Amino acid sequence: MSNPFSQDLLISEEQKELVALVKEFAETKVKPVVEQCDRDDTLPMEVYEQAMEMGLHMTVLPEEVGGMGLDHLTNCLLMEELAKVDAGFAVGCSANGLACEPIMIGGTKEQQKYFASVLQQKKFAAFCLTEPDAGSDVSAAKTKAVFDEKTNEWVINGTKCFITNGGVASIYVVFAVTEKDASSPYKAMSAFIVERDLPGVSVGKKEDKMGIRLSSTTEVIFEDVRVPADHLVGGEAARGKGFKLAMQVLDSSRPTVGSMACGIAQRCIDECVEYANTRKTFGKPIAALQSMQFKLADMEMTTQVARQYCHYAAQVQDSGIKPYSKLSSIAKCFAGDNAVRVATEAIQIFGGYGYSKEYPIEKLLRDAKIYQIFEGTNEIQRVVIAGNLLRGY
Ligand SMILES: Cc1cc2nc3c(=O)[nH]c(=O)nc-3n(C[C@H](O)[C@H](O)[C@H](O)COP(=O)(O)OP(=O)(O)OC[C@H]3O[C@@H](n4cnc5c(N)ncnc54)[C@H](O)[C@@H]3O)c2cc1C
Repeated sequence: MSNPFSQDLLISEEQKELVALVKEFAETKVKPVVEQCDRDDTLPMEVYEQAMEMGLHMTVLPEEVGGMGLDHLTNCLLMEELAKVDAGFAVGCSANGLACEPIMIGGTKEQQKYFASVLQQKKFAAFCLTEPDAGSDVSAAKTKAVFDEKTNEWVINGTKCFITNGGVASIYVVFAVTEKDASSPYKAMSAFIVERDLPGVSVGKKEDKMGIRLSSTTEVIFEDVRVPADHLVGGEAARGKGFKLAMQVLDSSRPTVGSMACGIAQRCIDECVEYANTRKTFGKPIAALQSMQFKLADMEMTTQVARQYCHYAAQVQDSGIKPYSKLSSIAKCFAGDNAVRVATEAIQIFGGYGYSKEYPIEKLLRDAKIYQIFEGTNEIQRVVIAGNLLRGY
């Protein structure tokens, strides 16, 4: 059973067709493997390959470089649909888009074509920003890239952690300090394209995660890794502009992240409506209890609002109006908090069965929690929102 109002009624026929395609794929290919992969902490590589055949790992890449050429609103619709079935699988697909963004925003035409050509071969990509001592504080990054004039190469050293697709990617975008004498740490970083098969690149610790277990999260280690000069994203003119680029990328991806969180919340609502109509206490379905109805009404209200705000932020982004960072942060933060709240309420509606692995609800809460943490924690989103407010007036 699914709620006919769970996606936007006002979307185009083309968007509806795409949503229907992804829904069918998610229901028929992803759903059957979710329980086992979540339990065993394994990746459904064959299903990922099928998703890549559909282009779901390069949704926002322009068509001229081989992507699906979708706008961000359509991407939100599709990623919500995937996340309804499994948020980890949605993250594994959308993290490729996250890795493409620095190249699409700041890369040269040649770099865009090259990066896209790798993804076209149904390969994973990963966005490597976070380090063990530099999560929220990106400017504390220690990974270094030093230019070797003799060989015209950059030499990269450092460790990145919590990297989605880290263990499966063939290509990385790596942020590293290049300007050791920069006037500010915000002007010290640059971004690089780094191939997985280069000497010195290795995958470190794999995270044994609470949720989104159908996505790979690992350390990625760079030891004297040499990349040619033309792997500096955006070329020489972009040196020292990596911090700004990383922030632009996160602004761009946050509405989609919020939409994935809405997918989890919607799934909770759908499951709860069905359960409330069948579970009986004191001779009546629990759906007859006003306490349950009020919970469902609150879950529905806040999820509808979260979804619409993610769509609004994505539409502003697609329209080219800038800056939209406050909108992106509101979308991600509200939708992430909502998913955790709704999943918690869903467990309450299911009672003891919600706490048991026999039903999907406990997994939905485990999956929801990450949406308050990655792509900037929800505390950092509030820092961005308040900063925009205070500076903007
Ligand atoms: C499953 C998963 C996937 C991820 N995927 C990627 C990826 O693909 N690429 C990538 O680069 N990174 C990725 N990350 C990293 C993620 O973005 C970071 O974990 C996140 O930004 C927080 O950094 P941290 O874990 O170091 O927490 P910390 O920065 O140490 O924060 C700890 C706590 O302090 C709070 N805090 C810190 N600074 C402030 C402040 N100024 N004001 C208010 N509160 C503050 C935080 O909100 C948090 O509650 C992923 C993480 C996870 C868990």
